[in-house]
Amino acid sequence: MKESMKSNNLPLRTAIIGAGPAAFFCADYLLRLSQPCSVALFERRPYPFGLVRDAVAPDKPNIRAAAHAFTRTAQHPGFAFFGNVCVGRDLSLEELKQYYHAIIVATGASSPRTLEMQGGGLAGSEDAVSLAGWYNGRLDCACLRPDLAGPSVVIIGAGNAALDIARILATPAVELEHTDISCAAWEVLRDSHVTEIHIVARRGPYDVCFAPQELELLSRVPGCGIELHAAPARLEPPAPDAAASRMRKAYAVAGASQGRARRIHLHFDMNPVALLGEEKVTGVLFEKPADEFVHIACGMVVNSIGQTACPVAGLPFEEGGNRIPNIGGRVVKEETIIPGFYVAGAVKRGANSVIGANKPDCLETVRGILDDRDRLTETPLDEGDGFLLSLRERGVRVVTFQEWLQIDARERNRGELKGKPRDRLLSLEAMMAVLDQ
Ligand SMILES: Cc1cc2nc3c(=O)[nH]c(=O)nc-3n(C[C@H](O)[C@H](O)[C@H](O)COP(=O)(O)OP(=O)(O)OC[C@H]3O[C@@H](n4cnc5c(N)ncnc54)[C@H](O)[C@@H]3O)c2cc1C
Repeated sequence: MKESMKSNNLPLRTAIIGAGPAAFFCADYLLRLSQPCSVALFERRPYPFGLVRDAVAPDKPNIRAAAHAFTRTAQHPGFAFFGNVCVGRDLSLEELKQYYHAIIVATGASSPRTLEMQGGGLAGSEDAVSLAGWYNGRLDCACLRPDLAGPSVVIIGAGNAALDIARILATPAVELEHTDISCAAWEVLRDSHVTEIHIVARRGPYDVCFAPQELELLSRVPGCGIELHAAPARLEPPAPDAAASRMRKAYAVAGASQGRARRIHLHFDMNPVALLGEEKVTGVLFEKPADEFVHIACGMVVNSIGQTACPVAGLPFEEGGNRIPNIGGRVVKEETIIPGFYVAGAVKRGANSVIGANKPDCLETVRGILDDRDRLTETPLDEGDGFLLSLRERGVRVVTFQEWLQIDARERNRGELKGKPRDRLLSLEAMMAVLDQ
């Protein structure tokens, strides 16, 4: 291909930090466009796929199916996966640089933005990413105990994640039983007493962050009605464009939804002021325009105001911009390119996007590497995978892709017995036990 012809044809070794969609898209482009080359993904979890496994809702199997394509990429002979390795903790960037010509940071943006307000530390306050992690069996969320004693939950924020959380809380447990939801979470949801779910947007009906198709999905939850707390005029599109009329249609569908078992309330133009309660949340105080205050009682509040990226030790970070500064994927410090370091995915652009949005930006990053290839491959490297010895000495049990496939097979087998696509293993120990057998 055109890119390969430009190269001096020395083998290019690339390390990618993270194993979410961005990492797999980059790996796929590199392996297809940049031969001879090898790509190694370093992932802090003992399993791959990032938020596709840890956050996408279990009632969206089509989105989860992205993992099939990623598994095909992993079959390439030039591909390697080093799971259960947290870069910055178990292995430093400097160490990686001894073994790889190029390093792509694809660590995502999944840390919840903090809700700075009175009562922020009260029990009963959760964040959307952890809650999604909980129902997906994310290992570090297994001990979460969301309070669903009910009857009311408040979700602050109106993006796709907020609608996901509302939908999972509103959906009858029987509808979720045969999805790949964590069995432990499913039991808690089965016993839930929540009947009223309030989604609260800071701005108006046409300034929300959720997609109209997500609202329509919410409108189809059996036994659940949606109440739109907005004057009819506020629901009229501000402009006669296609996006606004698509949203208008979604509001019409939501407004017509029927069901009494559970209700979802969509509120607009309300700013959270304080979480109320002594030790535990009992409600949220909101401010509306014209200094009007509204109190919504609840047993649990979910912060869904978005996610931020985390800094990576040794690389610059734009606090306000919530990303690693870069020009077209090349990491920059004070406008000077740091040779050999690249970014892709949510840590490159910020968190607010869907999986497919990572593709063009990953291609841009890979094209940058291809352009730099001759210079990169001139750097002599340490031979082989010597870092594995250091990891072993530090007590890190590396999980290979082949080993992940064993864990995957065990989860699928367990699921088959319960009529589910998979029954997730909920601890590192349980996953390691599969490998030790
Ligand atoms: C609740 C929720 C629901 C969503 N639902 C959908 C949906 O239905 N459809 C859709 O298209 N998109 C959805 N998204 C968005 C989608 O998941 C993201 O766009 C996508 O996952 C971003 O890909 P990424 O590779 O940049 O980051 P991630 O998927 O976050 O992957 C980053 C990876 O890096 C790893 N990592 C981080 N730090 C380190 C480190 N120091 N060392 C090693 N590894 C590290 C992480 O463990 C993770 O596996 C959802 C997001 C959320 C939060």
